[in-house]
This record gives sequence, C-alpha cells and structure tokens, in this order.
Amino acid sequence: MPERFPPSLQQKIEDRLRYYEDLGIRLFYKDRRGNGAAFAEDLEAPAVAYPVEAAVAPRPQPTAAKVAVPAAPPPIVAPPAGPSLFDEKIADDTLLKIREDLGDCTRCKLHKGRNKLVFGDGNPKAQLVFVGEGPGADEDIQGLPFVGRAGKLLTQMIEAMGLKRSDVYICNVVKCRPPQNRAPEPDEVETCSPYLLRQIDVIHPKVIVCLGAVAAKTLLNTTRGISNFRGEWLDWRGHKLMATYHPAYLLRNPPAKADVWKDLQKVMVELGLALPKKSKP
Ligand code: URA
Repeated sequence: MPERFPPSLQQKIEDRLRYYEDLGIRLFYKDRRGNGAAFAEDLEAPAVAYPVEAAVAPRPQPTAAKVAVPAAPPPIVAPPAGPSLFDEKIADDTLLKIREDLGDCTRCKLHKGRNKLVFGDGNPKAQLVFVGEGPGADEDIQGLPFVGRAGKLLTQMIEAMGLKRSDVYICNVVKCRPPQNRAPEPDEVETCSPYLLRQIDVIHPKVIVCLGAVAAKTLLNTTRGISNFRGEWLDWRGHKLMATYHPAYLLRNPPAKADVWKDLQKVMVELGLALPKKSKP
C-alpha cells in the first residue's frame, strides 16, 4: 500500500469522503452483498410500521430527546415565504419558460464539463417531487435525471410506493454534472438553485422529497447533518418536505434502505397511497 495515493486518486477519495460527510455519514463499510438486491426485496425483512400521526402532525422540531446532538443545534429554518432567492414569484411561469431561461447556460463553471444540461423529468403536475443533488455521468450523457445506478434504485423506490416515474417529477439542485461527481460548490448551488425553486413553484407539489444532504441543505437553509432531521415532516413554503438518504448512499449502505422505506411510507400516507398490507399501522 503506498504511503500516499497519487494526487488525482487522493482528490477523488477526499471528494467521496466529503460527500459522505455531507450526507451526515461518518462511518461506512464495504457492502459484501453487492448491489443485486432490488429495493423492494431488501425491504421484505423490515416490514416497517409507523404511527400515522407522524405523517400528519404539525411540523416537528428536532429536539434533544429525539436526536442525540451534543449542543443545541440551530433550528432548521426554511427560507422565508415567497419565492426565496427571487424577490417575487414570476407571473405565469412555466417549466418551458424556466428551461428557456436556462438556455445554453454558462452561468457557473459546471457548464465547462457538461455534455447535456439535465433540467428535470416527469409529470409537470406531480403531487410528489424528488430533488437530488446533481447529474452524474449517465445523466450528463442522456440529459435526464437519475438514469444511472442510483437512478435505477430511485425508480425501484418509486415503484415500491405504487407509483411510476411518470407520476412524479424528478430534478436536481444543479443542472450540470460536477466533475468526478463531487458535491456541487456553494457558488454553483447559489447560481443554479433559483431554477429549482421556480420548478417547484410551478409544479406546486404536495410533497417534496429531498434525496440527500445537498438537496435538504439547499432547500432548508441548514448546515445540520441530514441524519438529524431525516424522516421528519418539515414545512417548506407551504409544501410538506421530507429529507431522506440519497439512493447513491443506499447503494453503498443497503441497510439504510429500511430507514428510507419508513420515510417513503410516511410520504405514501400523506399522498393517500395504499401501504403494503403488512406495513399498515
Ligand atoms: N444523483 C443525483 O443527485 N441526481 C441525478 O440525477 C443522478 C444521480
């Protein structure tokens, strides 16, 4: 084993560890089972039941009793009501206008390595919007969100909910692939996220699911680790918001699928979707 990795590999490892840290995960281990198991199959064992009230209760505030946080954490404060990064809502906004406004975007440095801009995909009137972090290699080639390995798992998650991908809307915080799949940098998020906010405003979903820390931190304006508030119902400008783990994390840590399935079942209750029989409270 060399004492130090070559700089490019070192950088990749650092990026990856930072990504895990962003997800709120500081410990991980090699998955010896491989990635073959389907989401629903993996969920046979947990058969999670949870109280319905949890899904409909008013916005829960994470408390010291609920989560073990050493010092009082800053509260999760959603951005003020209104279109947040924009002073005013854009009248008669549409997804088409937003896409046209983005155009052949060169507003941030991510455009330099971009093959295709990944705007978003799905039902423009969806009740449920999934927000990821940013395109990966497959998405960059196809111009569609979540079509790689993590995307296949997301599709399984959606189908486990009794939905099709075309029922929901899927988009990302940044629309262009960060190099080597690193986390988007603050200036990139700041430049690109107004378009995400416009997308959400136009779609006006009942529920937003943030996939991973980058999406959650961007929408909730918090620096707290996602594990502190994952699975809690939060309010985001009148929409119900649930943060859960990113499918890419689940590929590396399949046991966490049980937590995500609990979260998705809360979303199902909120949307009036039938729960799998064994999971009914
Ligand atoms: N990961 C994301 O966050 N978004 C994608 O579109 C694909 C992978």
